[in-house]
Amino acid sequence: MAVEVITDSPMFIDGRSVLSTSGRWLEVHSPATGELVGRVPDGTEADVDLAVAAARAAFKDGRWHRMAMPERVAIMNRLGDLLDRDADELARLETLQTGTSYKLRRDSDFAFASDNLRFFATQIRNLEGKAAYEYSGSHTSFIRREPIGVVGQVSPWNYPMWMAIWKIGPALAAGNSIVLKPASATPLTTIRLAELALEAGLPVGVLNVVTGRGDVVGAAIAAHMDVDLISLTGDTATGKTIQALAAGNLKRVHLELGGKAPFIVCADADVEAAARGATAGALVNGGQDCTAATRAYVHRSVYDAFVARTAELFDSVRVGDPFDPTTDLGTLISQAQVARADGFVQRAVADGARVAAGGYRPDVPGHPDGAFYRPTLIVDCTQDSEIVQNEVFGPVLAVLPFDTIEEAFENANDTIYGLAASIWTSDVRVAMEAARTLNFGHVQVNDHLMVTSEMPHGGFKQSGTGKDMSTYSFEEYTQVKHVMLELTGEAEKGWHYTVFGEKPSE
Ligand code: NAD
Repeated sequence: MAVEVITDSPMFIDGRSVLSTSGRWLEVHSPATGELVGRVPDGTEADVDLAVAAARAAFKDGRWHRMAMPERVAIMNRLGDLLDRDADELARLETLQTGTSYKLRRDSDFAFASDNLRFFATQIRNLEGKAAYEYSGSHTSFIRREPIGVVGQVSPWNYPMWMAIWKIGPALAAGNSIVLKPASATPLTTIRLAELALEAGLPVGVLNVVTGRGDVVGAAIAAHMDVDLISLTGDTATGKTIQALAAGNLKRVHLELGGKAPFIVCADADVEAAARGATAGALVNGGQDCTAATRAYVHRSVYDAFVARTAELFDSVRVGDPFDPTTDLGTLISQAQVARADGFVQRAVADGARVAAGGYRPDVPGHPDGAFYRPTLIVDCTQDSEIVQNEVFGPVLAVLPFDTIEEAFENANDTIYGLAASIWTSDVRVAMEAARTLNFGHVQVNDHLMVTSEMPHGGFKQSGTGKDMSTYSFEEYTQVKHVMLELTGEAEKGWHYTVFGEKPSE
């Protein structure tokens, strides 16, 4: 399919398309063909200042958080409708800039993104807190749940639009103003998102998008003294940098970081279901997914059967032109990402592991410069090897045998990450023990990858702090205010003497 060339896409500040104060542009290339598919402004600290000022002004006059509730809900729902209306075009743009298959973008990301937004629209109407009461005996106390103010958000390249929705959904529902920075490799759909938000009726200045480099624009947002919360979805190392930058004004920090999900296959598991689950779980989005299955711990009694069937399924995956409807797997985000994944595989082999499927860059006709990598199953890995400990972020599943479930739990927990895990078993007691023992923010039984708008997604340990989706995420974009109303009307209170004067006589 011929690549459609996109024109320059200015960024979006205060309801207007603007260029950067730098006057420079960043190029966006298709990882499938290497061709130029768009340009966005190479943003600066000064651009961030303008966007923060616009967001602050919008917050200050309350044009969004003081708007009548039915109107706010309608605007968020309308944005969901516009995403559905434009899903084909947006999915094409997403495929163009990420190289991943169109069918994944169209039928997964976009179907789910509009549902996420509609879910958060319902949250506006369901504010929660402690019941109002006279807890002190002489005051009525009640809780206000309020927006935080200006929220900075930095999103990754793996699911550019979808992760942006996970960020803006709860932040908008809570009434905040936003300065959002997309990843520099994949900014095109996020700019469209800001335009659609305006079309949906979101007041100007409430959602601003600044494009540019992470260490310039992202860092400026994280460090900005007039930003009240910073939220990142990205690498764990970036999370540490952002947390340090946020210290200047002690802004709140919300981090959705890397993962290294274990996938435990017990002796009594349905091996066919597990092999299929592993194939989908490891290869989704080319493995460039923070919850992707990356380490399969397989009971020795079903090890050979699991490896044989999973290798067969990996080999059946069709790698090719991301726009071809028969393609399962397009490219990775870049040639550098392919080299990174291949480096992990080659070093594991040098260390004694064995490649059971893939492990090489395939030739894809008509795409000599495409960043393709075959789905790779690498077996007989060891627990302390880098391929088992570190995030590869490619279509690579490492497999290790285990003998006892305690050993499987121990090894599954033996990582700095704690985002997602799954266990495959027909024994409900083992499943419940896994739910209790696995130290991850999301544990699944007999499935991997599933998420839902109503339930939280977020990591333990170095996978981050805070949650995406669900009421938990919404509440993280709010602050709780305690209001107390004095009821007696007395000038001299019984406790005043502890600060000044004599104790009143009984
Ligand atoms: P990344 O950390 O390189 O980039 C993420 C964003 O941070 C980008 O917009 C980037 O420009 C910006 N950035 C980079 N350096 C920065 C700095 N010094 N200061 C401020 N901002 C900076 O991550 P990535 O490679 O785009 O995304 C992949 C990572 O994201 C993986 O580690 C993956 O596991 C993680 N991820 C996590 C989740 C989750 O929900 N936990 C979801 C998706 C992706």
